[in-house]
Amino acid sequence: MHTSSHTPDSPHSSHASGHGPCAGLRITVCRGAEHCPHCAVQAPHLADALREALDPAHIAARLAERLGETPKPHHTLRIAISHCPNGCSQPQIVDLGLIGAAVPALDADACSGCGACVETCRENALVIHDGRVTAIDRERCLSCGECATACPSDALTIERTGLRVLVGGKLGRHPRLGEQLPGIFDVQTIPRVATALIDTYLAHMARGERLGDTVTRLGIAPFAQAAHSAAVDAPCR
Ligand code: SF4
Ligand code: SF4
Ligand code: SF4
Repeated sequence: MHTSSHTPDSPHSSHASGHGPCAGLRITVCRGAEHCPHCAVQAPHLADALREALDPAHIAARLAERLGETPKPHHTLRIAISHCPNGCSQPQIVDLGLIGAAVPALDADACSGCGACVETCRENALVIHDGRVTAIDRERCLSCGECATACPSDALTIERTGLRVLVGGKLGRHPRLGEQLPGIFDVQTIPRVATALIDTYLAHMARGERLGDTVTRLGIAPFAQAAHSAAVDAPCR
Protein backbone atom coordinates (compact mmCIF):
# COMPACT_ATOMS: atom_id res chain seq x y z
CA MET A 1 0.00 0.00 0.00
CA HIS A 2 1.44 3.36 -0.98
CA THR A 3 -0.02 6.44 0.66
CA SER A 4 1.21 9.96 1.14
CA SER A 5 0.75 9.72 4.90
CA HIS A 6 3.86 7.59 5.53
CA THR A 7 6.45 9.26 7.67
CA PRO A 8 10.07 8.04 7.69
CA ASP A 9 9.09 5.92 10.68
CA SER A 10 6.06 4.31 9.09
CA PRO A 11 7.23 1.82 6.47
CA HIS A 12 4.66 -0.19 4.62
CA SER A 13 4.63 -3.87 3.88
CA SER A 14 3.10 -6.46 1.64
CA HIS A 15 1.79 -9.84 2.73
CA ALA A 16 1.05 -8.91 6.32
CA SER A 17 1.65 -11.81 8.63
CA GLY A 18 1.69 -12.66 12.29
CA HIS A 19 -1.78 -14.19 12.19
CA GLY A 20 -3.10 -16.83 9.85
CA PRO A 21 -0.98 -19.11 7.70
CA CYS A 22 2.66 -18.61 6.77
CA ALA A 23 2.80 -16.09 3.91
CA GLY A 24 6.17 -17.39 2.69
CA LEU A 25 7.58 -13.91 2.31
CA ARG A 26 6.88 -10.44 3.66
CA ILE A 27 8.55 -7.37 2.19
CA THR A 28 8.57 -4.07 4.06
CA VAL A 29 9.57 -0.91 2.22
CA CYS A 30 10.39 2.53 3.60
CA ARG A 31 8.74 5.48 1.90
CA GLY A 32 11.99 6.44 0.16
CA ALA A 33 10.84 4.71 -3.01
CA GLU A 34 8.26 7.44 -3.42
CA HIS A 35 9.25 10.80 -2.09
CA CYS A 36 11.76 10.90 0.76
CA PRO A 37 14.56 13.47 0.36
CA HIS A 38 17.06 11.17 2.12
CA CYS A 39 16.77 8.48 -0.54
CA ALA A 40 20.32 7.28 -1.42
CA VAL A 41 19.36 4.86 -4.20
CA GLN A 42 16.62 4.81 -6.79
CA ALA A 43 14.95 1.42 -6.54
CA PRO A 44 11.18 2.01 -6.82
CA HIS A 45 10.46 -1.41 -8.33
CA LEU A 46 12.74 -3.50 -6.14
CA ALA A 47 9.98 -4.97 -3.95
CA ASP A 48 8.05 -6.09 -7.03
CA ALA A 49 11.20 -7.55 -8.58
CA LEU A 50 11.93 -9.46 -5.37
CA ARG A 51 8.38 -10.77 -5.16
CA GLU A 52 8.54 -11.94 -8.75
CA ALA A 53 11.94 -13.61 -8.33
CA LEU A 54 11.19 -15.25 -5.00
CA ASP A 55 7.48 -16.16 -5.35
CA PRO A 56 6.07 -16.16 -1.78
CA ALA A 57 3.85 -19.20 -2.43
CA HIS A 58 6.86 -21.17 -3.64
CA ILE A 59 8.84 -20.20 -0.54
CA ALA A 60 5.95 -21.32 1.67
CA ALA A 61 5.90 -24.67 -0.15
CA ARG A 62 9.67 -25.09 0.23
CA LEU A 63 9.47 -24.22 3.92
CA ALA A 64 6.74 -26.85 4.36
CA GLU A 65 8.94 -29.42 2.62
CA ARG A 66 11.96 -28.59 4.78
CA LEU A 67 9.96 -28.46 8.00
CA GLY A 68 7.91 -31.57 7.27
CA GLU A 69 4.79 -29.72 8.40
CA THR A 70 2.70 -26.69 7.56
CA PRO A 71 4.87 -23.62 8.27
CA LYS A 72 3.59 -21.28 10.95
CA PRO A 73 3.33 -17.49 10.63
CA HIS A 74 6.70 -16.96 12.32
CA HIS A 75 8.40 -18.99 9.56
CA THR A 76 7.51 -16.25 7.05
CA LEU A 77 10.74 -14.85 5.65
CA ARG A 78 11.05 -11.11 6.07
CA ILE A 79 12.82 -8.66 3.80
CA ALA A 80 13.07 -4.95 4.63
CA ILE A 81 14.13 -2.30 2.13
CA SER A 82 15.37 1.07 3.37
CA HIS A 83 16.47 3.54 0.75
CA CYS A 84 19.09 5.14 3.00
CA PRO A 85 21.08 4.34 6.16
CA ASN A 86 18.35 5.81 8.37
CA GLY A 87 16.76 2.36 8.18
CA CYS A 88 13.11 3.30 8.73
CA SER A 89 11.90 -0.17 7.69
CA GLN A 90 14.17 -1.73 10.35
CA PRO A 91 16.39 -3.78 8.00
CA GLN A 92 18.66 -4.80 10.89
CA ILE A 93 16.07 -7.12 12.49
CA VAL A 94 14.73 -9.08 9.52
CA ASP A 95 16.02 -12.10 7.61
CA LEU A 96 17.32 -9.98 4.71
CA GLY A 97 17.85 -6.26 5.21
CA LEU A 98 18.57 -4.02 2.23
CA ILE A 99 19.96 -0.53 2.84
CA GLY A 100 20.38 2.05 0.10
CA ALA A 101 23.88 3.41 -0.39
CA ALA A 102 25.37 6.31 -2.33
CA VAL A 103 29.14 5.95 -2.20
CA PRO A 104 30.94 9.31 -2.25
CA ALA A 105 34.13 10.06 -4.17
CA LEU A 106 36.48 12.96 -3.44
CA ASP A 107 38.44 15.20 -5.79
CA ALA A 108 40.52 16.89 -3.12
CA ASP A 109 42.00 19.41 -5.56
CA ALA A 110 38.52 20.82 -6.18
CA CYS A 111 37.77 21.43 -2.48
CA SER A 112 37.35 25.12 -1.61
CA GLY A 113 37.19 24.50 2.12
CA CYS A 114 33.65 25.84 2.50
CA GLY A 115 32.85 23.27 5.21
CA ALA A 116 29.34 22.43 3.99
CA CYS A 117 30.07 18.71 3.84
CA VAL A 118 31.51 18.64 7.35
CA GLU A 119 28.36 20.24 8.71
CA THR A 120 26.25 17.70 6.83
CA CYS A 121 28.09 14.50 7.71
CA ARG A 122 26.73 12.98 10.92
CA GLU A 123 29.46 10.33 11.00
CA ASN A 124 32.53 12.63 11.17
CA ALA A 125 33.79 10.74 8.15
CA LEU A 126 35.47 13.64 6.34
CA VAL A 127 39.18 14.14 7.03
CA ILE A 128 40.23 17.81 7.11
CA HIS A 129 43.70 19.25 6.62
CA ASP A 130 44.33 22.99 6.61
CA GLY A 131 40.59 23.59 6.28
CA ARG A 132 40.11 21.41 3.23
CA VAL A 133 38.81 17.87 2.83
CA THR A 134 41.66 15.48 2.02
CA ALA A 135 40.04 12.06 2.48
CA ILE A 136 36.89 10.12 3.30
CA ASP A 137 37.18 7.79 6.29
CA ARG A 138 35.57 4.66 4.81
CA GLU A 139 35.31 2.99 8.21
CA ARG A 140 33.01 5.75 9.41
CA CYS A 141 31.20 6.56 6.18
CA LEU A 142 27.69 5.03 5.87
CA SER A 143 27.34 5.99 2.18
CA CYS A 144 24.33 8.23 2.71
CA GLY A 145 25.56 10.54 -0.07
CA GLU A 146 24.47 13.70 1.74
CA CYS A 147 27.93 15.30 1.66
CA ALA A 148 27.92 15.18 -2.15
CA THR A 149 24.52 16.86 -2.20
CA ALA A 150 25.85 19.61 0.04
CA CYS A 151 29.12 20.19 -1.84
CA PRO A 152 28.88 23.28 -4.09
CA SER A 153 32.07 22.63 -6.07
CA ASP A 154 31.80 18.97 -7.15
CA ALA A 155 34.74 18.06 -4.96
CA LEU A 156 32.43 15.40 -3.49
CA THR A 157 30.36 13.39 -5.95
CA ILE A 158 28.54 10.05 -5.94
CA GLU A 159 30.63 7.39 -7.65
CA ARG A 160 28.21 4.52 -7.20
CA THR A 161 24.77 3.69 -5.81
CA GLY A 162 23.46 0.33 -4.68
CA LEU A 163 22.43 -1.52 -1.55
CA ARG A 164 24.13 -2.99 1.46
CA VAL A 165 22.84 -6.45 2.35
CA LEU A 166 22.30 -7.62 5.94
CA VAL A 167 21.58 -11.29 6.64
CA GLY A 168 20.02 -13.06 9.61
CA GLY A 169 18.45 -10.34 11.74
CA LYS A 170 15.52 -11.26 13.98
CA LEU A 171 13.66 -10.46 17.16
CA GLY A 172 11.94 -13.09 19.29
CA ARG A 173 13.39 -15.13 22.13
CA HIS A 174 16.99 -14.75 20.99
CA PRO A 175 17.22 -11.50 19.01
CA ARG A 176 20.20 -10.73 16.79
CA LEU A 177 21.11 -8.00 14.33
CA GLY A 178 21.66 -8.92 10.70
CA GLU A 179 25.27 -9.31 9.60
CA GLN A 180 26.36 -7.14 6.71
CA LEU A 181 27.88 -8.80 3.66
CA PRO A 182 31.00 -7.13 2.28
CA GLY A 183 30.47 -4.56 -0.44
CA ILE A 184 27.65 -2.67 -2.13
CA PHE A 185 25.36 -4.55 -4.51
CA ASP A 186 23.89 -3.06 -7.68
CA VAL A 187 20.09 -2.77 -7.59
CA GLN A 188 19.56 -5.15 -10.49
CA THR A 189 21.56 -7.91 -8.79
CA ILE A 190 19.44 -7.88 -5.61
CA PRO A 191 16.73 -10.35 -6.74
CA ARG A 192 19.44 -12.88 -7.69
CA VAL A 193 21.33 -12.22 -4.47
CA ALA A 194 18.21 -12.62 -2.32
CA THR A 195 17.32 -15.84 -4.15
CA ALA A 196 20.82 -17.23 -3.54
CA LEU A 197 20.69 -16.30 0.15
CA ILE A 198 17.31 -17.93 0.69
CA ASP A 199 18.41 -21.01 -1.28
CA THR A 200 21.45 -21.27 0.99
CA TYR A 201 19.26 -20.99 4.07
CA LEU A 202 16.75 -23.58 2.90
CA ALA A 203 19.55 -25.97 1.91
CA HIS A 204 21.20 -25.80 5.33
CA MET A 205 18.45 -25.01 7.86
CA ALA A 206 18.15 -27.39 10.76
CA ARG A 207 14.57 -28.28 11.64
CA GLY A 208 12.62 -25.17 12.58
CA GLU A 209 15.73 -22.98 12.50
CA ARG A 210 15.31 -19.29 11.64
CA LEU A 211 17.72 -17.83 9.10
CA GLY A 212 19.57 -15.93 11.81
CA ASP A 213 20.18 -19.16 13.71
CA THR A 214 21.56 -20.78 10.57
CA VAL A 215 23.94 -17.84 10.13
CA THR A 216 25.01 -18.18 13.75
CA ARG A 217 25.64 -21.90 13.31
CA LEU A 218 27.40 -21.80 9.92
CA GLY A 219 28.95 -18.36 9.99
CA ILE A 220 28.39 -15.67 7.39
CA ALA A 221 30.92 -17.05 4.87
CA PRO A 222 28.62 -19.44 2.92
CA PHE A 223 26.02 -16.71 2.62
CA ALA A 224 28.57 -14.14 1.47
CA GLN A 225 29.93 -16.57 -1.08
CA ALA A 226 26.47 -17.36 -2.42
CA ALA A 227 25.53 -13.69 -2.64
CA HIS A 228 28.71 -12.64 -4.41
CA SER A 229 28.49 -15.51 -6.88
CA ALA A 230 24.90 -14.52 -7.66
CA ALA A 231 25.85 -10.89 -8.14
CA VAL A 232 28.44 -11.97 -10.75
CA ASP A 233 30.05 -8.53 -10.72
CA ALA A 234 32.16 -8.49 -7.59
CA PRO A 235 30.80 -5.81 -5.27
CA CYS A 236 33.25 -3.08 -4.42
CA ARG A 237 33.49 0.20 -2.57
S1 SF4 B 1 15.02 4.89 5.28
FE1 SF4 B 1 15.81 6.83 4.49
S2 SF4 B 1 14.88 7.03 2.45
FE2 SF4 B 1 13.67 5.54 3.60
S3 SF4 B 1 12.01 6.74 4.57
FE3 SF4 B 1 13.69 6.53 6.04
S4 SF4 B 1 14.85 8.43 5.78
FE4 SF4 B 1 13.59 8.18 3.93
S1 SF4 C 1 28.31 9.69 2.44
FE1 SF4 C 1 27.28 10.33 4.37
S2 SF4 C 1 28.44 9.29 5.97
FE2 SF4 C 1 29.72 9.22 4.13
S3 SF4 C 1 31.05 11.01 4.28
FE3 SF4 C 1 29.26 11.63 3.08
S4 SF4 C 1 27.79 12.49 4.59
FE4 SF4 C 1 29.35 11.33 5.71
S1 SF4 D 1 31.49 20.86 0.65
FE1 SF4 D 1 32.91 20.41 -1.02
S2 SF4 D 1 34.08 22.28 -1.32
FE2 SF4 D 1 33.08 22.45 0.70
S3 SF4 D 1 34.61 21.63 2.17
FE3 SF4 D 1 33.33 19.90 1.55
S4 SF4 D 1 34.43 18.95 -0.18
FE4 SF4 D 1 35.29 21.01 0.11
